[in-house]
Amino acid sequence: MTEPDHGSDIAGGLATTARFDEEAGNGEGRWIIDGAKRWIGGAATADLIAVFARDVADSQVKVFLVPRASWGLSMDTMVGKVALRPMENSTIRFAGVEVPESARLRQVNSWRDVNRILRVMRSDVAWIATGLQAGALDAALAYVKKREQFGRPVSGYQLVQEKLAWILGNLTASFGMVVQLSAQQDAGNYVDANSALAKMQTARMARESAALAREVLGGNGILLENDAARFFADAEAVYSYEGTHEVTALIVGRALTGESAFV
Ligand SMILES: Cc1cc2nc3c(=O)[nH]c(=O)nc-3n(C[C@H](O)[C@H](O)[C@H](O)COP(=O)(O)OP(=O)(O)OC[C@H]3O[C@@H](n4cnc5c(N)ncnc54)[C@H](O)[C@@H]3O)c2cc1C
Repeated sequence: MTEPDHGSDIAGGLATTARFDEEAGNGEGRWIIDGAKRWIGGAATADLIAVFARDVADSQVKVFLVPRASWGLSMDTMVGKVALRPMENSTIRFAGVEVPESARLRQVNSWRDVNRILRVMRSDVAWIATGLQAGALDAALAYVKKREQFGRPVSGYQLVQEKLAWILGNLTASFGMVVQLSAQQDAGNYVDANSALAKMQTARMARESAALAREVLGGNGILLENDAARFFADAEAVYSYEGTHEVTALIVGRALTGESAFV
């Protein structure tokens, strides 16, 4: 979905276009896709890429499953990421890429439909932010039990234990929130603002927990050979992707006040 020039404002800004040409494909008709995407995870190895594009006929957002090997599609892997390094993200360009009507996801015909996808994905990220904190706590605990200073393990110092308790508090609060969110969704109760609130809050706590875990490792906490450093870096990506802190806060704020403050 994300584009080089449109991240947070993708709802109104989505600039990749889809035009149905009835003559193309030997008269069968083809969708012609033009534009660019950025940050697309897993694209470099995917057989099919789900592309969000604006139909020039009705200005609505539609989704097309585009084979990676399509003529007119080119891709570069983004390099130099400090977070979520195992996942490759790509920049993709579409220059007159043709797909048949059968490649279109028929149940996505507007931004309202896209939102149905986003609220599920935001819930997933809230779980990721929670799991990240569990990992950070594990890494911190393992380290402080074996690291000795002033003649004994640093796990025995009050100020270190306070940080461990703080992480556990964040983790437990996050866990309670995502379990409740999933229980509501299992009951068929999907609310955009609930997903946004869970994503906002768990990502904020993940960032804090990962920093505390990094801190109790001292200098070794910035070395990638230690899991705490990896969680510290990954928390930054989790904080910003799938709706930044500000965007998720604005979704919640709109639900609270009835006023949209995005623009
Ligand atoms: C590791 C990673 C993986 C990703 N994977 C994917 C993927 O697979 N597919 C995909 O489509 N996208 C993906 N993304 C993109 C991600 O969803 C965007 O980064 C995110 O939506 C934010 O957009 P942006 O980076 O362009 O930031 P911008 O939109 O440029 O925002 C910059 C800053 O301005 C703030 N801001 C913007 N508008 C407002 C406003 N109205 N009020 C207040 N503050 C505002 C933002 O909150 C942010 O702090 C990924 C990103 C990352 C980092």
